[in-house]
Amino acid sequence: MRVSVSHQPVAVFPGSFDPLHLGHADIISRATQIFPRLIVGILENPNKQTVFTPDERLGMVRSLYANDPAVEVRLFSGLLVNFLQQMRATIIIRGMRAVSDFEYEFQMALMNRRLSPAAETVFLTPKEEYSYLSSRLVREVVTLGGDVSGLVPEPIRSLLEERLRR
Ligand code: ADP
Repeated sequence: MRVSVSHQPVAVFPGSFDPLHLGHADIISRATQIFPRLIVGILENPNKQTVFTPDERLGMVRSLYANDPAVEVRLFSGLLVNFLQQMRATIIIRGMRAVSDFEYEFQMALMNRRLSPAAETVFLTPKEEYSYLSSRLVREVVTLGGDVSGLVPEPIRSLLEERLRR
């Protein structure tokens, strides 16, 4: 059976984005080449300790994409498929860095399809130079005094340094 999607499918790119780095930005830019409307969904998870609050992450990502009409940024909590429904979206964008991402991503994609058969997960791969990047690694390097310029957007780099090197 063919999964029916509207002619202009809306895509959601979910994640914690604590913080957003250039691997995420690369996926966002690739996704907007394919989908006319992309919603970056920032997960509010009260059980997960984050460096930046949900509102701070929302503000940071919104200001980065303030001039890009194809990108909308929102907070969400709970099931991703419920957020998709609220946004009238059918596509889930995920980044696939390496084989190590595969197993978890594969399970999530199948679970999301089970929860909502209309949800289709699309995997995109980043530029090689960003394929080893993760928010956790960026946070660790900044905490230990390393330089992450060229790996995170400049405004985010200064906010991270302020927050983690006090
Ligand atoms: P999560 O909260 O799911 O751990 P993140 O906020 O770290 O997620 O990432 C959100 C999405 O971005 C995931 O699909 C993840 O695979 C993808 N991603 C993370 N880092 C990179 C990277 N360096 N290149 C491409 N995609 C990435």
